[in-house]
Amino acid sequence: MPAAAAGGGRAIEIRGLRKSFGANEVLRGIDFHVERGEVVCVIGPSGSGKSTLLRCVNLLEEPDAGTVRVAGAEVTGPEVDIDAVRRRIGMVFQSFNLFPHLTALGNVALAQRKVLRRGRAEAERIARENLDRVGLADKVGAYPAQLSGGQQQRVAMARALAMGPEVMLFDEPTSALDPELVGDVLGVMRALAEEGMTMLVVTHEMGFAREVADRVVFMDGGVVVEEGPAARMITDPGQGRTRAFLSRVL
Ligand code: ADP
Ligand code: MG
Repeated sequence: MPAAAAGGGRAIEIRGLRKSFGANEVLRGIDFHVERGEVVCVIGPSGSGKSTLLRCVNLLEEPDAGTVRVAGAEVTGPEVDIDAVRRRIGMVFQSFNLFPHLTALGNVALAQRKVLRRGRAEAERIARENLDRVGLADKVGAYPAQLSGGQQQRVAMARALAMGPEVMLFDEPTSALDPELVGDVLGVMRALAEEGMTMLVVTHEMGFAREVADRVVFMDGGVVVEEGPAARMITDPGQGRTRAFLSRVL
């Protein structure tokens, strides 16, 4: 691991990030950072560029301009090892994307074996530890179809955590869940935050943002309109656009 990865630097540092799809400029110069151990929630209307921002952090999208640094290493640099970057960043999406023919244990072990080249016994041991961490110790042998949406999302979280990421990205992790299943997933995320995990979370769950986030960032139209401490951003934002958005979602 390069010194920058083990040592100093912010967890995520983004400068002047721009991204267009054809004529549609989706990110119009984003400056943004996440400190180590910090939990940052990104909120904003649909289409404001939140997912694109997250996807630029782990290079699922290639930025047109600007720099993205993860743990001090520039991921937008010419000699970046994309796979090495992605190993350090866990990502959880709205859709769980589990393999239906593999058990929870198999799903959590697979990427460790393929990407990290862990042997079966080690991968399964770490899979069990992480399924336990997300409250699914009793579901290791269950197939996705036998699990609720909330349980499937927690398997997806265990899969990401088993890779030992330095940063976790969440893109609306509870948006596809029935309301009664949302709390379990948010509870696991809250526990991760309390363990000191660095987290960047796109969410519409304002209660979670207010209680768990250190900072809230409001995006609209491909720019960061406003950011600040979670409590102030949600109860007393400075910008009219932020207030208008919050009045629709709260
Ligand atoms: P959000 O997550 O805030 O809802 P997105 O980042 O998903 O916003 O999308 C922002 C804009 O970028 C939308 O207009 C969307 O249609 C467009 N967009 C996102 N991904 C692509 C893509 N792969 N190709 C073309 N347009 C895209
Ligand atoms: Mg999105």
